[in-house]
Amino acid sequence: MAISVVEMFSIGIGPSSSHTVGPMLGAALFARELSDQHAGSVARIEIDLFGSLSATGRGHGTPGAILAGLEGAEPKTVDPAHVRALADGSCQAITLVGGTTTLPLDDVAVTFRTDRKEFRHPNTVELRAFAPDGSEVLERRFFSVGGGFVEFDNPAGSSNSATSVEDTEGGHSHPAGFRSYGCADDLLAACEDAECTVAELVSGNEAAISGEGIAEKHLVEVWHAMRDCIAAGFTERGTLPGGLDVPRRAAALSQQLGSVDSVTRTMDTLNAAAIAVNEENAAGHRVVTAPTNGAAGIVPAVLHWAFECAWKLLDTDEERDEDTESALAVRFLLAAGGIGTLIKERASISGAELGCQGEVGSACAMAAAGLTEIMGGTPAQVENAAEIGIEHNLGLTCDPVGGLVQIPCIERNAVGAVKAVNASVLALKGSGEHRVSLDTAIETMRQTGLDMMDKYKETSLGGLAVNVPEC
Ligand code: SF4
Repeated sequence: MAISVVEMFSIGIGPSSSHTVGPMLGAALFARELSDQHAGSVARIEIDLFGSLSATGRGHGTPGAILAGLEGAEPKTVDPAHVRALADGSCQAITLVGGTTTLPLDDVAVTFRTDRKEFRHPNTVELRAFAPDGSEVLERRFFSVGGGFVEFDNPAGSSNSATSVEDTEGGHSHPAGFRSYGCADDLLAACEDAECTVAELVSGNEAAISGEGIAEKHLVEVWHAMRDCIAAGFTERGTLPGGLDVPRRAAALSQQLGSVDSVTRTMDTLNAAAIAVNEENAAGHRVVTAPTNGAAGIVPAVLHWAFECAWKLLDTDEERDEDTESALAVRFLLAAGGIGTLIKERASISGAELGCQGEVGSACAMAAAGLTEIMGGTPAQVENAAEIGIEHNLGLTCDPVGGLVQIPCIERNAVGAVKAVNASVLALKGSGEHRVSLDTAIETMRQTGLDMMDKYKETSLGGLAVNVPEC
């Protein structure tokens, strides 16, 4: 199954794609099914959160997201303030999507289950709805597998709206014009065969899946949302919510950039932009998964830096204007998204499955690939940049203090953005030939994640989460 890059970059709200965006989508699908089949006959809903959702769901805003999802809210358009009001009890009742049933929040029970069950993914949600006589009318289970993707267990359930393409080798056919690749080596071979760049190949596949220009239109919207997020982070001040009293720094950092020719200008620019996005994410505001919310700052920060600091190095003869910037951003995001889909299919982008290497490591690889693409790199150099981005994040654990996506997440995105630029610079200085392939790096990340103890996989039971006092 191939995933569209459109799904890799979805506009939603913070602080977590797996704990906020995915649960909202899953709850909305459950509520729609409920509304279709049992409109007006629901008196109570029970929602059980397991695994990482149970361990860090409070800090990651899961209950508010689920309640909003039951109302039919969508991450792209929901009002973040309404989600906060649902979470903090300011709202007393919800009206299920379809409008036929209003339930007091006392009749919507969200339980953080600490008992261990062997589900196929650690981010598991079970939902049950009951009629006034106490009989169960609907039960569903879904998994929030990272990046806002959800997968339902029950036959009647639905997966998310990810566009999928059937595998030719499985006896099915691809849409006309689709060039299949199941791994990075195949991707390089397909680019060589078609004599095109990674972005061009991904663009062709997107056109085959969803129509000419559809992905590009979405990616322009994504770039604008990323840009707006950086701008919002540069203006907001104060302290982030959640109780850790983490001060916002991006606004001050954006005022303290080194001079244009200073040695720190690159890092200052990357740091300010990445921290701006992740502070907005931590505040529960509008962000873009790239590929997740926790790692949302790296891709936009590198794009921001490319336009602010490196325009002369980019693969264009045009002056900087809105149209040229959007065209380059789309090219960047196509290449980055192509690498992200490979990682998701062959390993995971979920911190609960592979630790932070799956989130920040993936984002670093994607940003390195995108930057190399718009610097005019060959497909081999793009693959090399992505490989460096993953290789030097291998083993990175997920240990958010207080279960909040703040420490170490916010700074980690700044460091990841700097690393992505360096990965691209290293790859562009080479021929594309290198010892460790991207496929090997992805597989190594997968195996390392499987070996990693659960306490380092978004449970806040180990690492910084137990060594840093919360007050
Ligand atoms: S430590 Fe990494 S994986 Fe864990 S919540 Fe933070 S950004 Fe996500």
